[in-house]
Amino acid sequence: MPDPIPIIGGGPAGAAAALAIARGGGRPVIYEKSRFPRQKLCGEFFTPEALPVLEELGVADGFLSLRPARVTHAELNFARRHRRFPLPEAGCGLSRYAFDDFLLRAAVERGAKLRPERLVKPSGPAVWAVGRSIISTRGRRAFGFKAHFSGPANDAVEIYFFDGGYCGLCPIEGGKTNVCGLACENLLFDVDRLLCGVPRLAARLAPLERLTLWHIAGPLRFGMPASAPGLLAAGDAACFVDPFTGSGLLGAVQTGAWAGAEVLDAAQGLHWSRCCARQRRRCAGFYRRQLATTVLIRRALDLGFAESIAGLLPGSLLFRLTRPG
Ligand SMILES: Cc1cc2nc3c(=O)[nH]c(=O)nc-3n(C[C@H](O)[C@H](O)[C@H](O)COP(=O)(O)OP(=O)(O)OC[C@H]3O[C@@H](n4cnc5c(N)ncnc54)[C@H](O)[C@@H]3O)c2cc1C
Repeated sequence: MPDPIPIIGGGPAGAAAALAIARGGGRPVIYEKSRFPRQKLCGEFFTPEALPVLEELGVADGFLSLRPARVTHAELNFARRHRRFPLPEAGCGLSRYAFDDFLLRAAVERGAKLRPERLVKPSGPAVWAVGRSIISTRGRRAFGFKAHFSGPANDAVEIYFFDGGYCGLCPIEGGKTNVCGLACENLLFDVDRLLCGVPRLAARLAPLERLTLWHIAGPLRFGMPASAPGLLAAGDAACFVDPFTGSGLLGAVQTGAWAGAEVLDAAQGLHWSRCCARQRRRCAGFYRRQLATTVLIRRALDLGFAESIAGLLPGSLLFRLTRPG
């Protein structure tokens, strides 16, 4: 095996790339600027397709041993309409505090070297798994918010849409519920007040007690950022999809695993630029349908007819249209 190739970012995408490289006999080196475990802005819902990817990476048993909550249904809540439908297979709810630390540790246990530092500009080929870009956007900027709550948990991932944003609830380990959403920045001065102003959501949150401070981050920018030449992008660094789909983590571990496979192919003599081009094509194919669907759904939400469409389409179709792949 030639020199190890650096992986910039030790989140799910970077750790998945490291696991795939280590499985293939390579020597991954992960650069991670944050100290794990740490809280992370996320809805913490794992779509059912994520588990087979974790299985391929050899970490599914370890993941299940963290006792994620079982999520069997999805619920969509609009001003007048409520939809509940079963997921095709059960998904999971697990905090990023537990998951990211677990996956990074698993990579290190299997041979990855961890460099606890920020690496801004790699001098040569590298896996680029630094998460979503934080380029500021003009106009109505969207920020994300999240906190953990105690109280009655549901078996569903719930989404409440309101004017200017949405809020998702997902049961996680230890009987807690993660409350996370996205809203225009001008609405976020007082998150509790914002959520109390949405009648269905206020009723749902009434018996819950907030355990953590609100974590707010952004601005959020969706889409595929231009990829830097010579870098194998994975996870949100390859594409950031509107989080109401609850599939960013699937994208991170899947595209991270693909990036790892490309690194192994490069080690076998395939030209690095061909590996990068192949990864770009694969990611574009993976995210294409989902990006198109989320743009349409956003439009329908802005124009006020998402509620009617959601009432007409079968839940299984709504779920399928918002999946990548
Ligand atoms: C509001 C919101 C809700 C969401 N809800 C869900 C959900 O319910 N389900 C779901 O599947 N997805 C959800 N997502 C998406 C999900 O959080 C992301 O898709 C996922 O975090 C992507 O993982 P990643 O490894 O690509 O990036 P990250 O998790 O962001 O990891 C990147 C890592 O790189 C490190 N890093 C960055 N720059 C450097 C550097 N220069 N040097 C060293 N280290 C660096 C960072 O510290 C970080 O640890 C949500 C996102 C948002 C914003």
